[in-house]
Amino acid sequence: MACDFSALSSIDPGDPEQATRLLDECTQALTSPQLWFWTLVFTIVGAVVGAWIGRRKNAVVRDALLGAALGPIGWIVSLLLPAVKPAPKCPACQRDVGAGDRHCRHCGARLG
Ligand SMILES: [Zn+2]
Repeated sequence: MACDFSALSSIDPGDPEQATRLLDECTQALTSPQLWFWTLVFTIVGAVVGAWIGRRKNAVVRDALLGAALGPIGWIVSLLLPAVKPAPKCPACQRDVGAGDRHCRHCGARLG
């Protein structure tokens, strides 16, 4: 008996042993190391390709997470999302500051 919908539909309701065997079969399929290995491989490949797309859009973490979670669909979403503008930098200390800041929060230099 394989763990699929045809086995589920052909199960005899009067035989609880059959249902138990099908449940065991499906539990074994879900805990198979091979299944988890390939799930991990696809997640990592999804994240790496997503990060590669995100590198060109200044959004590596965002696009790596999208790729890991959604795979090829996440890659398409990443390609359609706009690029992230880099945070403005303080001309005095070269550290990141907020877009609307009047003074640098690190060194106090006047901005813009
Ligand atoms: Zn500064």
